[in-house]
This record gives sequence, C-alpha cells and structure tokens, in this order.
Amino acid sequence: MNRLWAPWRAKYIREVADKSPEKCFLCEAARMKNPEEAFVLEFSKHSFVILNIYPYNTGHLMVVPLRHIANLEELTEEEHADLGITLARCIKAIKKAYSPHGINIGMNLGRAAGAGLESHIHYHVVPRWNGDTNFMPVIAETKVVSEMLDDTFRKLKEALIEI
Ligand SMILES: [Zn+2]
Repeated sequence: MNRLWAPWRAKYIREVADKSPEKCFLCEAARMKNPEEAFVLEFSKHSFVILNIYPYNTGHLMVVPLRHIANLEELTEEEHADLGITLARCIKAIKKAYSPHGINIGMNLGRAAGAGLESHIHYHVVPRWNGDTNFMPVIAETKVVSEMLDDTFRKLKEALIEI
C-alpha cells in the first residue's frame, strides 16, 4: 500500500489544520505550503510523520494525528487505526534505514509526564542502539546541525517510499 506524499490530500489537511490554534508547531508544520521544509515525511488520511528537530537519537520521529487534540482517549477508532498503521510503517522505515538494536515508542501526556507540547498528542519513535543509554543526555543537549536532519530526512523518506 502506497500512502506516501499525496498532494491531493493537501486540501483536506489544510481544512483540518485551519481549525487549530495558531501556536501549535505541529499544526503549523502540517499546513505549510511545503511541509517538507518542516521535516514532514508523509501524510496519511488522519496522521502525519515529522522528524523531531531536537532528536534524542538519530532517526527520532513523531507520528501525529492531524486533528489538534490533547487527549488520546478522544481519538476515534479510525484515527487510532490510522496512527497504528503509520507507526508500523515508521518502524519498518527506521529498521530499513538504520538497523537499530531496539526502538522506543511513547507518548508524554501532560507537562508532568514530560510533554513539550501538551495540546496536540504525538507518538515519539526513537531508534536505540546497544550502549547508547549513557549518551542520551549528551545527545539531547547537543545542538543539531541542519545537515544532520536533512540527511535523516532523506534516508527515512527513501525508506518510506520503498515500503
Ligand atoms: Zn496542533
């Protein structure tokens, strides 16, 4: 199934995103004229995939419902299914592009749980390698150069196209 970048979805995406608050960086990224500039990898009917520009590890991406929503339990069944399928696609792509030893998937609900953006839920997908644990805090503090993100974007985009 090819669920890659589809310009014909742009209208739907803009209609969904336009109902969202101005200051949500996820909604802003989704409704950009060229979302790739915000490192959006692909859209599906109810979700999109975007690189985390402050990655915990190389290949760290986020799977996000298109609907600006703060509570996981408010997602419809169709949205849950779409997010789940998109997560699986991303796992395949990460395995193909980076061959990690493991992958963390998680959602931070609420500020106390570490959410940087509380109002729009998103899954984090973080590739892991044996022995990287000790480097995590260092990597999190490191300023990411754009070449690195461009490289990650290209690799994951290619992997997604081939799935
Ligand atoms: Zn939003």
